[in-house]
Amino acid sequence: MKKNEKDIVIIGAGLTGLTLAYYLKKAGKDVLILEKSNRTGGVINSVTESGFTYETGPSTGVLGTLELAELFDDLQGKCHLETANKQAHKRYIWKKDRWEALPSGLLSAIKTPLFTLYDKFRILGEPWRKKGGNPDESVAEMVVRRLGKSFLDYAVDPFLSGVYAGDPYTIITRHALPKLYALEFEHGGFIRGTIAKHKGVKLNQSHSNTHKVTREVFSVQGGLKSLIDTLTAEVKPENIRLGCKQTFINPENNGFCTTYIDSSGLQIKTISAKVVTTIGGYALPEVLPFVDNQLMLHLSQTNYAPVIQIAVGYNKWTGIKLDAFGGLVSSKDNRKVLGVLFPSAIFSQRAPQGGALLSVFMGGVKRAKLLQLSDEELTQLVCEELKITMKTDAKPDLIRIHRYQHAIAQYDIKSENRFAAIEAIERDYPGLILAGSFRDGIGMADRVKQAKIIANQLNR
Ligand SMILES: Cc1cc2nc3c(=O)[nH]c(=O)nc-3n(C[C@H](O)[C@H](O)[C@H](O)COP(=O)(O)OP(=O)(O)OC[C@H]3O[C@@H](n4cnc5c(N)ncnc54)[C@H](O)[C@@H]3O)c2cc1C
Repeated sequence: MKKNEKDIVIIGAGLTGLTLAYYLKKAGKDVLILEKSNRTGGVINSVTESGFTYETGPSTGVLGTLELAELFDDLQGKCHLETANKQAHKRYIWKKDRWEALPSGLLSAIKTPLFTLYDKFRILGEPWRKKGGNPDESVAEMVVRRLGKSFLDYAVDPFLSGVYAGDPYTIITRHALPKLYALEFEHGGFIRGTIAKHKGVKLNQSHSNTHKVTREVFSVQGGLKSLIDTLTAEVKPENIRLGCKQTFINPENNGFCTTYIDSSGLQIKTISAKVVTTIGGYALPEVLPFVDNQLMLHLSQTNYAPVIQIAVGYNKWTGIKLDAFGGLVSSKDNRKVLGVLFPSAIFSQRAPQGGALLSVFMGGVKRAKLLQLSDEELTQLVCEELKITMKTDAKPDLIRIHRYQHAIAQYDIKSENRFAAIEAIERDYPGLILAGSFRDGIGMADRVKQAKIIANQLNR
């Protein structure tokens, strides 16, 4: 058995773990990442084959935090940020039997068939609607109360399918969409809050870097894996152990001892003052065996939405015009897909000239059973769905299916107890930090933000 010493051990080499290691190393810390699988990146991976470059996990992100914008600045010249093609800014919502563009201005909002006339008039009274009294109100309840049912069905429900693969009736606004919650809580409503924030942003912009938070849709030239490869190279492969098995941590002498079996079958112990886990709640009991069972239950029982991610490529595109970011589907419309993104319309070099790459996602909390279908059944289902929604009969030239049982942590009614349990564990074991997407947000921008905040904390 070998025994080593490091400043900080990180469990998991996904975006969170790699970003954290990058900023720690930049500050001169001696860092070790332990990763179970045989590659870095976690759920992020891009593949180039037969003229297509597709993502097997997330397809796009939003430049929604300053930390993410700064990461791209820090990696400038090594990894090339690609923002979405401006011609493809439209977002479609499926209603009944067709895509409708989500309104982008007042006129289109008045004309859109997505929302009822009643709700369109009702929105005029939104600034004067009284605040809700339930802090654990779901997103669905809040939206129906302030805007109306058609806004839930044809804006918020598809949006939550796209981001959380979740159910708006179980997702709690203040946990999942804290900014939306604050619009009502701090400013009295969505419209008042948006106006106040807009003014605030203009004032702040002259003094800070917030203009970098453009909220543009982004990827990276060559696919998101290029970001992962760049971070991996910066952290340096010798500081990352791949293929680690049976990893567990125990407190030892004011620090921690992390034990794992390396890829050659050797048991290794590493002593460090700090340990950061970036893995899902379901994987934590094995890694942190010393944590009180009751507290651990709040983490291990975190609900995750399962997602099927399907890349579908055509050498020659014959379906509808791909002039949008993609389309999302309301659960009201009973389709089998949650949404279809159009990566070849948004980013360059994702499909052969004249062809198209689609990214279809299915499953989610409402249709979890779809994950049990075989590849053949899913292929047939996707082709049937694309025939209706994308108006294409053509047989795809490429179809690649990836299933994630624990894709997206749900910020539901259990979240409060989960956050309290994390706080209690970190208080009981100073130096242990529980990071990852079951707190501080699920998007890539949130992951980078969390990692940078933790790095700053550890670099102090
Ligand atoms: C299908 C899908 C689509 C998504 N779409 C989007 C999107 O469009 N936009 C967006 O912003 N976000 C999206 N997300 C979310 C986003 O991709 C993730 O939040 C983010 O990439 C998670 O990074 P992470 O490092 O926290 O976790 P992960 O990527 O899960 O990394 C954790 C790592 O820990 C490793 N690990 C697990 N257990 C152990 C162990 N015991 N020992 C050692 N290592 C271990 C895993 O192998 C993994 O590499 C999507 C996620 C999925 C799954």
